[in-house]
Amino acid sequence: MSHLYAIAIGSNRPHGRYGRPAGVVEAAIARLDQEFGLFDASPIVLNTAHGGAGRDFANAVALVESDLEPADMLTRLKALESDFGRRRGRHWGPRVLDLDIALWSGGKFQSHRLTIPHAQLGQRSFVLEPLATIAPAWNLGPLTVRHLAHRLARKRRRG
Ligand code: ADP
Ligand code: MG
Repeated sequence: MSHLYAIAIGSNRPHGRYGRPAGVVEAAIARLDQEFGLFDASPIVLNTAHGGAGRDFANAVALVESDLEPADMLTRLKALESDFGRRRGRHWGPRVLDLDIALWSGGKFQSHRLTIPHAQLGQRSFVLEPLATIAPAWNLGPLTVRHLAHRLARKRRRG
């Protein structure tokens, strides 16, 4: 049976070949397209570090279709992260790519190494906003992705 997964993609370090975080995220989307059936991918959200200090972040969400069950999907995503983790001139350097399972079509999933929906989904605008561009009507209980995104945006505006 085939499942639909929403994969949250993030990068905050440059890569020797793919360049800045936005380039890493773009390359990760292309790789997900090769490995799985890519349904859709959101625009890449850039969060440039304040005041010139700190790191640039880039995030996106991809919808992929796969027969893999969640535990095997996580293993594949970890392998992809490792592939991207290698920086030129170094051994296994810091990980440049983070791939999380935000949602899957099977609803709730819980094991010792995996919680779906992702535990921080409701607090992470850098996941909810891109997710809302490609799957606004995805249901999480009574609320949709669009509801969660709106709720978080309102909270932030009020401080
Ligand atoms: P983070 O994503 O929080 O920056 P990691 O990518 O190192 O950190 O993930 C740490 C662990 O979180 C993973 O090894 C995995 O076992 C666990 N985890 C729990 N739920 C999820 C999920 N929905 N997607 C991805 N990893 C998850
Ligand atoms: Mg992760």
